[in-house]
Amino acid sequence: MNDKAKILAHLCCAPDALYVVGLLQADYEVVGYFYNPNIHPESEYLLRLEETRKVAQHLGFQLLKGPYEADYWFKLTEKFKSEPERGRRCHICYAWRLDKTAEKARQLNIPLFTTIMSISPWKSAAVLNKIGRMAGEKYKVEYLEADFKKKDGFKKSVLLSRQLGLYRQDYCGCLYSLRPR
Ligand code: SF4
Repeated sequence: MNDKAKILAHLCCAPDALYVVGLLQADYEVVGYFYNPNIHPESEYLLRLEETRKVAQHLGFQLLKGPYEADYWFKLTEKFKSEPERGRRCHICYAWRLDKTAEKARQLNIPLFTTIMSISPWKSAAVLNKIGRMAGEKYKVEYLEADFKKKDGFKKSVLLSRQLGLYRQDYCGCLYSLRPR
């Protein structure tokens, strides 16, 4: 029996999950939540989900999948489609995914949640932590603040995912992020 505290971890892709979930498992019983209606096209979404399932099997954790509400995501971000990466469109995108993760944690009675997204050099941990705290307050679950890019987290994720032969995407996820950074 696992006597570690449970955490619901929002997972966005397999390579980042491989490193970060491995790290979290030292202290927590991790349940993964793949909720990413931002990923387009759908074939790419399914590929990232499938690769994340391989990581769940490899590390031995439960992986849950949220709905693929792509139409709703487009409505949410439409006004900001011309924003550069890290701009307001991204903040809305983070907030929506973290809101749904916090809501899921509340439904599952898991008192703690987080996201692995701060591992990306393109994402500000300070912004994610602020958004995560707000989502946690809304649903009365605690948000684990983190900056997983620290201690060479991103480099380690690249290395580990190569060793496991995982697919590694070259754009963040939405159609708007397909243009050069
Ligand atoms: S670039 Fe990434 S974080 Fe920003 S809106 Fe697109 S998918 Fe979301």
